[in-house]
Amino acid sequence: MTPPPTAPAAEPAVGPLVDRFGRVHRDLRVSLTDRCSLRCTYCMPAEGVPWLPGAGTLTTDELVRVAEVAVALGVAEIRLTGGEPLLRRDVVEVVRRMATLEGPAGRPEISLTTNALRLPALAEPLREAGLARVNVSLDTLDRERFRALTRRDRLDDTLAGIAAADAAGLRPIKLNAVAMRGVNDDEVTDLVAFAVERGYEMRFIEQMPLDAGHTWVRARMVTGAEILERLRGRYTLTEVPGRGSAPAQLWHVDGGPATVGVIASVTAPFCGACDRVRLTADGQLRSCLFAHAETDLRVLLRSGADDAALATAFRRCIGGKRPGHDIDDPTFLQPDRPMSAIGG
Ligand code: SAM
Repeated sequence: MTPPPTAPAAEPAVGPLVDRFGRVHRDLRVSLTDRCSLRCTYCMPAEGVPWLPGAGTLTTDELVRVAEVAVALGVAEIRLTGGEPLLRRDVVEVVRRMATLEGPAGRPEISLTTNALRLPALAEPLREAGLARVNVSLDTLDRERFRALTRRDRLDDTLAGIAAADAAGLRPIKLNAVAMRGVNDDEVTDLVAFAVERGYEMRFIEQMPLDAGHTWVRARMVTGAEILERLRGRYTLTEVPGRGSAPAQLWHVDGGPATVGVIASVTAPFCGACDRVRLTADGQLRSCLFAHAETDLRVLLRSGADDAALATAFRRCIGGKRPGHDIDDPTFLQPDRPMSAIGG
């Protein structure tokens, strides 16, 4: 586990996006929309949530402008997410324009987190536009469970989307599952088998307090340690060294080369190595999934601010980043925005 940083200093006014704790920010997560085609029980209620108003959502030009400023500040990786990012009609254009930006780290790698439902139609155009790879959410391989969990009977469409990403060469394909007690925790080894057979990387995520209904209870959460214990019942796992700033700790499965990842955001936080900053679909910059403060870039964009002003706003946001998410602190308060409106 990465220890939380402890030595505050002032954030610099030039150079890369460094916070008071020396963390350099190279990864921008961009939410393209808060809307989603599924209604995963751990994320959204059946009726959805009050959607962000359309006029408040950043336009294609505004999104690309923010990305351009971020890339000039040293961002090397842009992950498009949501809601469901493929619901946005301009997604191919967004990828094409972001993929050609240039900064001190060169061209950014563009990746996408998706439920894959629209990938059969979009995988090829996205790859041609410059998309490097995809992360696909796949919590179960059982059709009835998938229907109950996502409140939509779409398992076959998600599997077709994963196959389309593979055929288009959007590799490595990472599959994400939120492990839930009594829901899919008995399936973790089957999910790994599915991924290993196809050359994909399975990753399990600890459930976080980011659901719209605020129903998360720590005691019910399946921990990373429990996931590893279950996996060790079927596989030999060897820790992969050199994790860097990656959220997932990787393990070689039966000697490798296949790997499985565990993202233990709650029980083994990796905030000390965090290099991520997030842009919501309505133009709010957030230094952490669990932040309460947001920096309003939309108001700057729509009032004619120049790139220097946007860069200063980025630095201020990063300057206010806290050392850790504090989920274990008795004063922890879940942010008002659910995961779907932040961008997972
Ligand atoms: N719609 C896309 C998808 O399905 O991947 C992108 C958005 S979704 C919010 C991004 C990721 O967040 C998914 O892998 C999802 O499983 C995860 N997620 C959502 N709510 C979560 C929670 N409360 N705890 C942990 N992960 C969560």
